[in-house]
Amino acid sequence: MSFWRHRPAKRQVENGPLSSNVIELVGVSLTYSGPPPVEALRLATVSVPAGDYLTIVGRSGSGKSTLLNVIGLLDRPTAGVYRLDGIDTGELSDGELASLRARRIGFVFQSFHLMPHRTATENVGLALLYSGTSSATRMSVARDALDRVGLSHRLGALPTEMSGGERQRVAVARALAAQPSLLLCDEPTGNLDSESASVVLELIEELWRDGLTVLMITHDERIAGLGRRTVEIRDGQLTQPTATGERARPFEVQSRG
Ligand code: ADP
Ligand code: MG
Repeated sequence: MSFWRHRPAKRQVENGPLSSNVIELVGVSLTYSGPPPVEALRLATVSVPAGDYLTIVGRSGSGKSTLLNVIGLLDRPTAGVYRLDGIDTGELSDGELASLRARRIGFVFQSFHLMPHRTATENVGLALLYSGTSSATRMSVARDALDRVGLSHRLGALPTEMSGGERQRVAVARALAAQPSLLLCDEPTGNLDSESASVVLELIEELWRDGLTVLMITHDERIAGLGRRTVEIRDGQLTQPTATGERARPFEVQSRG
């Protein structure tokens, strides 16, 4: 089985029940303590089934980064339950959260966050440092991942020697290296020209078709239209997309089975 064939929808996860939802958020909220306190997130129920491609669109200040930080296990919610692959993340220590994040979530950010003095292969291999695998294995997985994103001819290139589109494809390869359950994208084309953006978006769509679960956060409504389904975030709440000026309604984002 090729490394980029992603985990099947139903499987026994360690320390967790069988679940076909990659993400389950129940009553999750996050309040920044301030002063003054800011309730940046207040969600009803959000379920993202395995194999979904969900885009979340919202204006500046609507809560996108806060939501990304919670889903990406970078920040803990103030209240509510977040299950990732059926695992209740509220029960985990900081170390366990970091390990879960490294194994289950691949991040692609607007700015590529590559190490400037490392080759493409080294950058991708770094994603597996936590896993305790040998350097040779890490490099081999990294080469496969770079091949998957169409960069097998750029293995030894430094980020400074690559175009923006190539750099973002390296970042996608890095996100894939640990065979995550979830690809979490934050404005992945924000720094790209439209041609490179198309290449990266087509790549993400291809990975989704191969079985990867994708959640993309963007303020670009054209990109939002690419997902299998789109919801809007407004004032920290997920809402059905509405005409400008219309009042946001709380929206239950449920699994479509
Ligand atoms: P977006 O990413 O959509 O621009 P954010 O999630 O960054 O939105 O912010 C949501 C709300 O929370 C905004 O009102 C913002 O001012 C506030 N906020 C974000 N980070 C903090 C923080 N560390 N402390 C206090 N308020 C914050
Ligand atoms: Mg933001």
